[in-house]
Amino acid sequence: MDIVLHAVGGYDEVGRNMTCLEIGDEAVIIDMGLYLDRYVPLQDDEEKLTYQKLVQEDAIPNDGSISHLRKKIKAIILSHAHLDHIGAVRWMASRYNCPILSTPYTIEILKKMKQNKSFELKNKLITINPNSTYRISKNIGVEFIHVTHSIIQASMVNISLPQGNILYSLDYKFDNHPIVGSKTNKKRLKQLAKENVIALILDSTNAEEEKKTFSESVAKEMLRDVLLGMETEGHAIIVTTFASHIARLKSIFDMGKQLGREIVFVGRSLNDYIGAAEKLKFVNFSKNAEMIKSTFGAKKKLKEMHENREKYMIVATGGQGEPNATMSKMVNGEIPFTILPEDFIVFACGVIPTPTIQANRKILEHKLHNRKARMLKDIHVSGHASREDLRDLIKIVSPDIIIPAHGNMQKLASAATLASEMGYRLGKDVYLLQNGQNVTIE
Ligand SMILES: [Zn+2]
Repeated sequence: MDIVLHAVGGYDEVGRNMTCLEIGDEAVIIDMGLYLDRYVPLQDDEEKLTYQKLVQEDAIPNDGSISHLRKKIKAIILSHAHLDHIGAVRWMASRYNCPILSTPYTIEILKKMKQNKSFELKNKLITINPNSTYRISKNIGVEFIHVTHSIIQASMVNISLPQGNILYSLDYKFDNHPIVGSKTNKKRLKQLAKENVIALILDSTNAEEEKKTFSESVAKEMLRDVLLGMETEGHAIIVTTFASHIARLKSIFDMGKQLGREIVFVGRSLNDYIGAAEKLKFVNFSKNAEMIKSTFGAKKKLKEMHENREKYMIVATGGQGEPNATMSKMVNGEIPFTILPEDFIVFACGVIPTPTIQANRKILEHKLHNRKARMLKDIHVSGHASREDLRDLIKIVSPDIIIPAHGNMQKLASAATLASEMGYRLGKDVYLLQNGQNVTIE
């Protein structure tokens, strides 16, 4: 029974992740993501976007390379709820007559997306708990191995076959002191090595970073240093981060409490991700904080915050400079809360390393400079494994072959170089693939 790995998306860029594993006369898809860099500029016309248009603009994976497999696909498996892994489900999943499998949080986010955007999703949604398995067919099993990342209930997806295992490691880090949830299930990964890992699909995002990615606890201490240690009195504090980063939001929330400020979360996506996390009892912010879904309907509250800015800590969306998010609206004076000189703008996030997003963020920073705000950038640790964490994962699972993914050629090549340092040989047991290519796994 031949196994063929099809690199559909995310092998030329950081985004639109999608991998297809063809196993004899069956196949599964892992992840179906957006390329945010290409998607964000199209968002103004969101209602008009079609599958064809998005493929043409490279905003979603081009699944033309696996169109001959359409009838073989038995499942769409989602590793975690980040948009670069699930954001294309809206336009693509119904093209496949199979269920979608993922952990409860990811399924909850999908349901919210469906509600908000009112799109049709024909696929059955199947919820599988972290560290649990599910049998897709006689020959194919799937296991969601819990990992730490920058979103809750992220998993490495292990596809178990009669020949052995194929481990998909996008996205993970080895956080020894997570803020929410438990550590990466290393015990299971060690066991897996004994059960034979045929192939490892490796997260190459930070393969060039020669370090270990620090724990989320480090980000918490950075936040503490800034928020509790600086001369913030009399000024607004606005913290921005990824809406999906529940652990980071918890640290921000805790600091706001210690400061004695009223905490207000502003933005639709923050409300969605927090709502899903509260439903699953990971956090309980809304009991002690105000949630503003839309700035449009909250003019009175925004005005009151503008006038009594020293009493509030605002948590806002838009740290990547997204033109439609709260941060941009504030700095552009489009809502009744504007930024004044010496207000604190805390970027509890990095910048996604793609051209449009980097440019948007630069524009936002420029406008903040013009308003004479105090900027605290990079109060952040990554959710992705760095080079030395990648080395640890390779050591732990000792795969027969390695296929770098989640990056452009430079990042994938860097992961391949690491593998070659560890005795793997390019073209023999390390494969560099680009979108649309495939490799037969012996
Ligand atoms: Zn992710």
